[in-house]
Amino acid sequence: MKLLIIEDEIKTAGFLKKGLEENGFSIDIAEDGGIGASLARQGDYDLIILDVMLPGLDGWSVLQALRRRRDLTPVLFLTARDNVADRVHGLELGADDYIVKPFAFSELLARIRTILRRGPLRQAATLQVGDLEIDVQRHRASRAGCVLDLTPKEFLLLSLLARRAGDVITRTLIAEQVWDINFDSGANVVDVHMHRLRAKVDDPFAARLIHTVRGIGYVLEDRSRR
Ligand code: CA
Repeated sequence: MKLLIIEDEIKTAGFLKKGLEENGFSIDIAEDGGIGASLARQGDYDLIILDVMLPGLDGWSVLQALRRRRDLTPVLFLTARDNVADRVHGLELGADDYIVKPFAFSELLARIRTILRRGPLRQAATLQVGDLEIDVQRHRASRAGCVLDLTPKEFLLLSLLARRAGDVITRTLIAEQVWDINFDSGANVVDVHMHRLRAKVDDPFAARLIHTVRGIGYVLEDRSRR
């Protein structure tokens, strides 16, 4: 498996390269967005790790150029803390996932493995779980054809669950991913928002899609056909 890291912070790039090579990946590094984009064009990469703030060409432009060529190489975005708009924008442009800096290497590795396992077919611009449809590009979610009126946070929360539909998403991960807060201070925030999200996504419909896994977190799953 060959990965491209586009990251101008030499320390971060070096740390990622070392860790990933130890896990059997072959790694190229670009410290400039323009160089990264041209490497991405030539190289046959299985995945690209892409920083947003880059010299030359920013991460958005690199991703946009890639997707315009219908290049579906999976992209994992590295985003700054406290920037929900960044994450939503990344997903809209066709990123497969994002991870918030600073991150634990083990978490990054788990994300990479998940993306590589599910392969390019899951990169559709639309995520579907039962009769729930999320149009990532247009930033719209609907159930049974009814558009759901979601706030940006709720949309991000629902997208997070939908991207890993069937997997239990811990409240810790939700707190970190959607709010950039740790679980100790964030448990209540997560539960309050999840309650509001359910009121919109599940309450008006016959089948529930969001399920609580007591003491752990939540899973988005269509259980009606079991
Ligand atoms: Ca940077």
